[in-house]
Amino acid sequence: MKSYDPQMHTAEHILNQTMIRMFHCERSFSSHIEKKKSKCDYHFNRPLDCDEEVELTHHINRVIGRNLEVKEHFLSLEEASARFNLSRLPEDAGDEVRIVTIGDYDTCPCIGPHVTSSSEIGLFQLISTSHENGILRVRFKLSRLTS
Ligand SMILES: [Zn+2]
Repeated sequence: MKSYDPQMHTAEHILNQTMIRMFHCERSFSSHIEKKKSKCDYHFNRPLDCDEEVELTHHINRVIGRNLEVKEHFLSLEEASARFNLSRLPEDAGDEVRIVTIGDYDTCPCIGPHVTSSSEIGLFQLISTSHENGILRVRFKLSRLTS
């Protein structure tokens, strides 16, 4: 079971969307989100180089710095399953699916708690990435504006 830290968890959404936009991969298929540090795993065919790690970090921090509003709305299970991969939602999520949007940047079905503006996340810091057996692991932490 994940622990749901709102800052970290919202950062995960932005990381996932940035991975999609930069590398055309899927959202992370597995993640471990904790207050101090987190990791996300992606199906990926190679390691990232240093330049890519720097660009990924800058891109995420530019998005965070846009003060994007984080909002939720609800779709029927039918509508949601037509538009999103729901495989990471719990089986018993109900007839309505909660969709979380981060400004114009990311839209994703999610049951977790989030901050209300991306600026509350603080600074995204990449700890390291590694690649093994077709899986890229991204480890990161946040320097928070307030604790
Ligand atoms: Zn979420």
